[in-house]
Amino acid sequence: MHITALSGGIGGARFLRGLRRVVSPDDELTVIGNTADDIWLFGLKICPDLDTVMYTLGDGIDDDRGWGRRDETWQIKDELAAYGVEPTWFGLGDRDLATHIVRTQMLSAGYPLSAVTKALSARWLPESERPPVRLLPMSDDRVETHIVIDDEAEPSGRRAIHFQEYWVRRHAEPTVRDVVVVGVDEAAAAPGVVDAILDADAVILPPSNPIVSIGTVLGVKDIAVGLRDTRAPVVGLSPIVEGAAVRGMADQLLSGLGIENSAASIAEHYGARRHGGYLDGWLVHDADRDLVPRIEQADIAARAVPLLMRDRAATDAMAVATLDLVEELRT
Ligand code: GDP
Ligand code: CA
Repeated sequence: MHITALSGGIGGARFLRGLRRVVSPDDELTVIGNTADDIWLFGLKICPDLDTVMYTLGDGIDDDRGWGRRDETWQIKDELAAYGVEPTWFGLGDRDLATHIVRTQMLSAGYPLSAVTKALSARWLPESERPPVRLLPMSDDRVETHIVIDDEAEPSGRRAIHFQEYWVRRHAEPTVRDVVVVGVDEAAAAPGVVDAILDADAVILPPSNPIVSIGTVLGVKDIAVGLRDTRAPVVGLSPIVEGAAVRGMADQLLSGLGIENSAASIAEHYGARRHGGYLDGWLVHDADRDLVPRIEQADIAARAVPLLMRDRAATDAMAVATLDLVEELRT
């Protein structure tokens, strides 16, 4: 079976680690990673979500932090701070920096991000491993999420800041007025992305952020069309549990965009494939089981199962439940 998943960072990566454990060694997994969080810092190209997926599935992640490398040290960060070089708010560990240096070197030599990601994946996700995981960036084109916040100093009273500045520097504190995904309308899907969706036996939307992770991937036109055209069932898992994000800033973004914070409203936001949306099936947390009829009203098959990735067993069970719903929808 060929399974294709869209993914952000931590929520997607942790779920995919479980999925990889429960599928058969003969299955193939393709992950289409969000690149709208990417940022250039100190002359280096950082791709936080691609790296989180790569490190998590490649067993190099710091599991407590959920991002960056295990056994990390921070000497270069300290040295940069000693020079007073900005920004000091973004965590770049010494081990992690090697990834960004290799990536930037290859980009400067003219390779597209998809080729660079393949080269970096050779270390973390070797093709010889079973089941194989292929990590593809959603696009080789520059796409950047900006968050519009209030700023009295601006004539318009508003200012757009890079997503990383909103999230990492400002800790998601400013009220969100809008989310602007710069460049997404013109972005083309990276090589292999559309085929991976069209040729898949199952397409999965892990419990990643619906706005700034999955939402930005779906913002790439060819990807949205691929998802609508594929014969594979498309099944997603709610990142919202009992009316709140399990972690991260989804709550603030949803409120800013006027979307109700519930597992049902996210399903409605994605919409049923039958009505031009993206979903055939949707899993909600068992405590949200009352929302199932409302989701089914929208022509999306819904099931309530435990959706908290507390440990390995719980995560694996979520992956099994996802494949069960895929199977149901295939028959
Ligand atoms: P990011 O790019 O690192 O923010 O990662 P993602 O977008 O892939 O994942 C963030 C989302 O994962 C958040 O909206 C969380 O609510 C969700 N999430 C994290 N842990 C869990 C969990 O255990 N269960 C569920 N259902 N969602 C989770
Ligand atoms: Ca992210």
